[in-house]
Parts: sequence; C-alpha cells; structure tokens
Amino acid sequence: MPAFRADQVSRHWFGRWEDDPHTWSDLSPSDRETVARELLPTLLTPVRELTCDEGATVKMLWRLHDGSRVESVLMGYRDRITMCVSSQAGCGMNCPFCATGQAGLTRNLSTAEIVEQVLAGARMIKAGLIPGDRERVSNVVFMGMGEPLANYRALMGAIHRLVDPVPAGLGMSARGITVSTVGLVPRIRDLAEEGLPLRLAVSLHAPDDALRDTLVPINTRYPVAEVLDAAWFYADRTGRRVSIEYALIKDVNDQRWRAELLAKRLRGHLVHVNLIPLNPTPGSQWTASEPRDERAFVQALEEGGVPVTVRDTRGREIDGACGQLAAAEAP
Ligand code: SAH
Repeated sequence: MPAFRADQVSRHWFGRWEDDPHTWSDLSPSDRETVARELLPTLLTPVRELTCDEGATVKMLWRLHDGSRVESVLMGYRDRITMCVSSQAGCGMNCPFCATGQAGLTRNLSTAEIVEQVLAGARMIKAGLIPGDRERVSNVVFMGMGEPLANYRALMGAIHRLVDPVPAGLGMSARGITVSTVGLVPRIRDLAEEGLPLRLAVSLHAPDDALRDTLVPINTRYPVAEVLDAAWFYADRTGRRVSIEYALIKDVNDQRWRAELLAKRLRGHLVHVNLIPLNPTPGSQWTASEPRDERAFVQALEEGGVPVTVRDTRGREIDGACGQLAAAEAP
C-alpha cells in the first residue's frame, strides 16, 4: 500500500480511537479488509466488567490471545479520568500482600497489549459510559498487574505511543503517566534518562531493610538506601516529585517509630508519601491499619516535614486491588 495509508490508519487508531477498520471510509473496501486481517488482530477480549462508585469506577478483566488474563481499571474523577493498566500477565516480584504476586509471572505484555488497555478505556469514555463530561483518559498509572520496569522495552514503547502526538500516538501528557515500581534500581536510572517528565512511584512499604526484605522481596537485591538514591537521581534528572507508596498493614509496618524513620529518610527530598490502606487479599492474615494508627502515621510524617496523602481507594467492592479479579476468575 502507499505510505500515506499508514498515516490514515494511525489517525483512525490513535487520533479517533476507532477500532473497526470496516468503517474507515477513506480506505478502499479491499484495503480495509487487508488492514483488518494483516494488522489488527484482537488483542484483548473482555471476560468480565464490574462497575462501582455510581459508574465512576469500572474494572475490566481481559483475556489475551494465549489465554492469559490481565486487568485494568478506569476511574472517573471530577477533574480527570485515570486508567490503571497492567504491564505483565502475573508478576515475578512475589510481594506477599499482593494478589498478583501469589500466582507468579506468566509473561510480559507487548507494547500493543498495554496501549490497547488505554484505548479500550478511551473508547468507553467516547461511548458515554463514564459519568461526567470529560472526554478522554487524562492519566495512566502502571499500577495494575506486573512490574513495569521488568518489562522495560514494551513499557517504553507503550509510553511513546501514549505521549507521541497524533498520528504516532495518542498525544497524552507525560506528566499524567505514573510508572510504579518495586524499585529496580538500574531501570529507575534508565527511566530518568529517557527525557520524559513521567511521574515515578516507588512501592516502599517499609523504611527498614529487615521488614522490607519480607514485604518486597526484591529488597534483598536492591535495599532501601539504593532504591531511595535512585529515586533522588530520578527527581534530580526530571524535576518531578517522586511518590513513595506505602500500604499500611495493621501491626506490620504501621508503628510510629517506622513513620519517624521513614520521615528521616525522606526529609529534604523532592518527594511525597502516598499511604494506601491495605486492601486485604483473600486468605491473607493481614488487614488494613486501624484509623487511629493511620492518623498517627500521617501526623508523624507531617511533623517530620514530609508531605503525605492517604489514597482514595476505589473499587474495593469489585476486587479493585492488584490481581484480585484475575485470581477470582482463574481458569
Ligand atoms: N509492581 C509495581 C506496580 C503494580 S502494584 C509496584 O509494585 O509498584 C501497584 C501498587 O499497589 C504497589 O504500590 C503495590 O505494592 C500496591 N498493592 C498491591 N497489592 C496491594 C494490596 N492488597 N493493598 C494495597 N496495595 C497493594
């Protein structure tokens, strides 16, 4: 086909989010057939869709071509719509409080399988399925299944398709994209050199190696001090404030002394802490911290001079936490 066909196809795909080539009337009927057959295999087949928060939160479970399952969650807010996407089927990081971690890694997703999750969300918004008058996915968070930095090439491919202007991509702002990681130090440094103002979130969950070794097992390879050094390098290179994710687990990591130690290690850096009430996974002995302990933790961080927010947890009643829906539907 002539080269300009690529431009036409890309404008339909990335610019207008149209996934049915048979409607692309600027292509001849036979070219539409060829494009559909040769270029556009079905990447994601819906298995289940669950809605809560009066329609503002939609969780999708997808089947991939080889039968693997992944999840995404679309969350509508007053001022933005955030899509939470998966980067791998399963995850190899084995964090004991995380549902995805329990099943191990099946495989990396391709760039197209990652981008397609965002496009699926964009199409839902376009179809008017999310309440409110926002028109597009404004934010993408890599907080679904998988460790995005363990699938670095596909991750960066997907990020470029998201941020490059139409027709090469969707033209999103890199500032609205968050890469969340267990702390793969060399990859954090690579990400810092990409020249994109992405937001980095580091899943710390403990300020001390003794506990973090058990909550985030990769800590035995990349301990807290090295992870934080990489985070400061990231902040320095990109000018962006790093988010420290900390799931508050009752009587495990929610003691006041740990909040004080955390504040001490973070103070003075371009950082803020995002506390996440633990979303208990089925069969786990752990549960979320008491409100009183959560408040004390927040207070200790504030007194220690570290900005902190408590995450608005969406989708609890629809197995919103990482991997829970796929686990419930395991074949
Ligand atoms: N692998 C990446 C991204 C996926 S998980 C990472 O670890 O950052 C996204 C966030 O959800 C991480 O901070 C993870 O630790 C957290 N998380 C996983 N299971 C959770 C649960 N049951 N309750 C609360 N947070 C959880």
